[in-house]
Amino acid sequence: MTLRRLGLFGGTFDPPHFGHVAALRAAARSHRFNRIEVTVAGDPYQKSERGSVRPAPVRLAMAKAAFDGLDLVVVSDREIRRAGPSYTIDTVRELLNEADEVDLIIGADLASQLDRWHEAALLRSMVRVGVVPRPGRAPSMPAGWITYEIAMEPVDLSSTYIRDTHPDHENLREFVPEGVIPLFEGFRG
Ligand code: ATP
Ligand code: MG
Repeated sequence: MTLRRLGLFGGTFDPPHFGHVAALRAAARSHRFNRIEVTVAGDPYQKSERGSVRPAPVRLAMAKAAFDGLDLVVVSDREIRRAGPSYTIDTVRELLNEADEVDLIIGADLASQLDRWHEAALLRSMVRVGVVPRPGRAPSMPAGWITYEIAMEPVDLSSTYIRDTHPDHENLREFVPEGVIPLFEGFRG
C-alpha cells in the first residue's frame, strides 16, 4: 500500500525540544498528511563542522523519546543507516518509493536557505515545503519553490539555546519532554 502524502521533518535534534513537538502537532493538525516521518541526521553536514554534535544513536534515542506516540509521527533512522552526509534529497528519493507526494516540513529559519541545500534545483522539483513559524523570523519563502505556511503559535526555543545555557534537571523540564532528560544529561561530556 502506498501512502498518498507524507511529511518529512528532518533535523539534528541535539536535543529535541517542545518547539519540535509543537511543529509536529501543527503539521498533524493541518490534515495535509497521512504520515509524518521524522528523520534524524546521521551526519548533519551543515553542522558537523561545529564539532560537538552528539552521536547519532543518542540523538535517535532522544527523538524517539520525544516524538513517539505523537499523532501520525514515525521516527526513522534511515539517515543514520546511510553512510556519508545526510542529504534531504536522498531521503526524498527513498520516500517517493513509499508515498505519492513528499512535503518537507521546515522551520522558518531554514526557508531562506533552501537554495543552498544539496541538489537544490532538483529537490525543488520533487517536493512542496510546509513552513512552521519561528519567533523573530518572518518566513521569506524562496522563489521557485512551492511553499505554504503551517499555522502554529510560535515557540521561542532552540537546541542551541538548551546546549548553551546548561539548564539543570528541573529547568530542562521546561524545554524537553521528560523522557529526553536522562539521555541528554547522560551525554553532557
Ligand atoms: P539548533 O539550534 O542546533 O540549530 P534547532 O532547535 O534549530 O537546533 P534542528 O534540529 O536544527 O533544531 O531543527 C530541526 C527542524 O525543526 C528545523 O526545520 C527547524 O527549523 C525546526 N525547529 C527547530 N526549533 C523550532 C521551533 N522552536 N519552532 C518551530 N520549528 C523549529
Ligand atoms: Mg536548527
